[in-house]
Amino acid sequence: MPIPSYAPMVFHEFEPWGVMSLKHAAVKAGMGRFGRSGQVYHPKYGSLLRLAAIVTSAAIPGDKLLADGLPCPPNCRACMKGCPSKAFDENENFQKKTCLAYSVKHAIYPLALKTEEGLKNIERVINTAGHNYWIDCDECVKVCPLNKTTNKKIYSKKDTYSS
Ligand code: SF4
Ligand code: SF4
Repeated sequence: MPIPSYAPMVFHEFEPWGVMSLKHAAVKAGMGRFGRSGQVYHPKYGSLLRLAAIVTSAAIPGDKLLADGLPCPPNCRACMKGCPSKAFDENENFQKKTCLAYSVKHAIYPLALKTEEGLKNIERVINTAGHNYWIDCDECVKVCPLNKTTNKKIYSKKDTYSS
C-alpha cells in the first residue's frame, strides 16, 4: 500500500497528522536522525527530503540504523532563532499548530475553522477540497547548517553507522 507524503491526513485536536509517521519510518529504515528542529536529517542531503513509503508484507532487509544522538552542532539553535512564528517553546519543543498557522496558506482551511459544520467535518474538508495549499515559510530549512553541505557527508566522524 503506498503512503504518499503528507496525505491522507487525520486530525487530533485540529492538528493534522499523516496516517503513519514517515519521519519515524525513515529513522527506523536507517535513512537519518532527528535534529533539534524535529526534522529528519539524512547524512548526505540533510532535511532536504520528501518522504513517502510503501507498506508491504515483503521481507526486505533494511539498512543499519544510524548511531544514536543529535546530528546538530552542540550550540546551534539557528532553526529556533530564525523561526518567524516562534514555533519552538521555551523548552525547545516544536509547536506544530503555531508553525502551520503561519506557514500554510490555504483557501479553505481557515474558512472551515470558522464554522461549526466545517469544524465537525474538518478531516473530510482537508482530505477532499483541502489539498490546494502551499507552504510559505522554509526559514528553519534555509538556516540549518546541516542543509548547507549537500553532496558530501554532513555528519561528523563519530556518527558512523551502529552495528
Ligand atoms: S516552517 Fe517557518 S514557521 Fe514553521 S518552524 Fe520552520 S521557520 Fe518556523
Ligand atoms: S538549525 Fe541547528 S539546531 Fe536546528 S536542526 Fe539545524 S543544526 Fe540542528
